[in-house]
Amino acid sequence: MVSDTTAAAETPEGGRDFIRDIIAQDLAQGRVQTVVTRFPPEPNGYLHIGHAKSICLNFGVAEEFAGRCHLRFDDTNPTREEQEFIDAIQRDVRWLGFDWGDNLFHASDYFEQLYAWAEHLIASGDAYVDDQSPDEMRAARGTLTEPGRNSPFRDRSPAENLALFRAMRAGEFPNGTRVLRAKIDMAAGNMTMRDPTLYRILHATHPRTGDAWCIYPTYDYAHGQSDAIEGITHSLCTLEFEDHRPLYDWLLDRLPIAALGKPARPRQYEFARLNIAGLVLSKRALTRLVAGGHVAGWDDPRMPTLAGLRRRGVPPEALREFIRRVGMARANSVVDPALFDFTTRELLNRTAPRRMAVLRPLRVIIENYPADQTEALPAVNHPDDPEQGVREVTFSREIYVEHDDFMEAPPKKFFRLAPGREVRLRYGYFITCRDVVKDEAGDVIALRCTYDPATRGGNAPDGRKVQATLHWVSAADALPAEVRLYNPLFTRPDPGADGDVFADLNPDSLEVLTGCMLEPNLVVLPEGIAVQFERLGYFCPDPESRPGALVFNRTVGLRDSWAKESGRNAPPSVGKVKK
Ligand code: ATP
Ligand code: MG
Repeated sequence: MVSDTTAAAETPEGGRDFIRDIIAQDLAQGRVQTVVTRFPPEPNGYLHIGHAKSICLNFGVAEEFAGRCHLRFDDTNPTREEQEFIDAIQRDVRWLGFDWGDNLFHASDYFEQLYAWAEHLIASGDAYVDDQSPDEMRAARGTLTEPGRNSPFRDRSPAENLALFRAMRAGEFPNGTRVLRAKIDMAAGNMTMRDPTLYRILHATHPRTGDAWCIYPTYDYAHGQSDAIEGITHSLCTLEFEDHRPLYDWLLDRLPIAALGKPARPRQYEFARLNIAGLVLSKRALTRLVAGGHVAGWDDPRMPTLAGLRRRGVPPEALREFIRRVGMARANSVVDPALFDFTTRELLNRTAPRRMAVLRPLRVIIENYPADQTEALPAVNHPDDPEQGVREVTFSREIYVEHDDFMEAPPKKFFRLAPGREVRLRYGYFITCRDVVKDEAGDVIALRCTYDPATRGGNAPDGRKVQATLHWVSAADALPAEVRLYNPLFTRPDPGADGDVFADLNPDSLEVLTGCMLEPNLVVLPEGIAVQFERLGYFCPDPESRPGALVFNRTVGLRDSWAKESGRNAPPSVGKVKK
């Protein structure tokens, strides 16, 4: 597998990659006056991060070159398509930041025109009705090294083909008994050109056309012709369609598309699919994850779907920036998921408000602080962005700190709380641990500390230093919450490489922490906005979160969790891990 480490460097914002070069040239040479692209999802599942690449490309170039981008539902397979998916796709494209305006289309809008053109192909001897069974057709198709065999029905007259095709449309035959095929070349080196199927019989109710049709066009037949009808100038698709391009052109060459009066004939260009190590980006597999109950739904934050990423708190800007960094290469590669986390973290570090939350609380009693006293301490919302202002956090005699921030017998490099040790409370005071409270089992359940009133705000007037600053929340007004931590859904970078994707599911992909304690200021934040829990990472309220039953999702941790193993402390290279 080819690895391309330079793509991103060559892809400045709105700048040049090979597709943008082609478009710029087409405009300069006058082949095209207005750039028209399309994003053509099949509504048989939710959009995933791979689709984001196609969306950013198609809508992105339309925007950059002052053209337009259509959203076209490729709804040619009524057995797998649902309204839920149609709605979700529109919601997700908008969320990602793109707008198709009035340009919402469906391949099913063109069924009548596509049918008329199929009759045109029959009349000109370029298509025929084949009565072979699917098995017979498969057997006659040949292999990469052997030519296929002509169908015994290949030389029917146009008149006979026309009569049969009309009977197909009229519903006279059951599913699978006949197809319409292009008459090209059963010995073609490119298997796609071995008399590909254009229409199949499918007695199924379509979400939009109902029972009007019982024959449906294939992707190959519908796609290019839909492009022509809409006046698409650049039909951008993934590399697996490279072999289909000759068919795309073959059909356009033989159909009277000039009569449509569109300014330019569509051309297909292929780019590399987005693959990310450890993620499964196949709708078929994602559908099975949902149907099999391995995740809570299409928007489970562990899913690589746009709905899942949104629920996890990933801002759409981070996703767009990630796609920009990956770049638009012509060769397939596998991207390191750390690049996605890095990009998300980098954006959130710049923008996310800071708050304090304790995930695994340990009670601290500050013995020399009056029981009936509380005070409001100013806390900056963002260290580098004064515009985010200052909030108040309450300090009182009882607070919670992170259980991990205390050790009874600390090893050498542990600088946080320990018996006799003084540390700083963020925005607060210095405290010193005086005593440890244990339960019957001998587990530490609370600490008795004292504070130094002279250190308000976090500095000692005598200049003495502490080695650690801890986050904390005041026990009396902290809000309990459930916090969900997400780990990779699969245990290996190439899930399913041994045959079964489900065998590689990570049993620890979801970690639910209950009894977490949050600073009350957290509930006043707008929904869907991720915040930084100081020292812990970025978190976002779940849509299920309610007052009294708060639920937060971890968007991404504070540090590159891979860094430790790989010894990396610089950003992950834009380059990609080799498969
Ligand atoms: P499947 O997962 O079953 O292969 P699909 O992802 O190709 O289906 P479509 O709805 O046909 O589903 O995809 C819509 C568009 O998104 C297509 O143009 C396709 O090329 C593009 N696309 C899909 N997956 C990726 C990916 N991983 N990277 C880039 N583009 C993608
Ligand atoms: Mg597809």
